[in-house]
Amino acid sequence: MTNYRGSAGQNRHLKMAAIFGALAVLTLAVTRCGGRGEYIGTFDLSHYCLEVWNGSHICGNSAYGCGGDRLVPGKSLAVPADVLEKYPVGTKVVLVYPDGKEEHLIIQDTGRALGELGRLDMPVYSHSEALELGVVENVKLYAAK
Ligand SMILES: [Zn+2]
Repeated sequence: MTNYRGSAGQNRHLKMAAIFGALAVLTLAVTRCGGRGEYIGTFDLSHYCLEVWNGSHICGNSAYGCGGDRLVPGKSLAVPADVLEKYPVGTKVVLVYPDGKEEHLIIQDTGRALGELGRLDMPVYSHSEALELGVVENVKLYAAK
């Protein structure tokens, strides 16, 4: 497991493992295979939650991506529309943080403002976690090999 976010990231992985069990572990193992492929671009990475509050989401519009897949923290990534045109839903990607840590994800969504802001958007479970993680600047995105 990556540890770049410290306890919050570990909590996220623990919660995910608890919820999705062995299947999620297997999926993670599969999606972590392979190295960096083609360089896509450098972005700021923002976080939003999938937490349900009074029957609706606080900062995420939907628990489902634009391709109809249920969004999964630690797996799903939203990219700008121009990136989505070249790398469609289902594309496996590698995020490289400024400290060199990598995270393997799958493009599953886009967002109206992401292109203007030069941002990637990552779902997390709770609103407090989204606030804590905030925006990480200068994250490099690659297609996975
Ligand atoms: Zn939120």
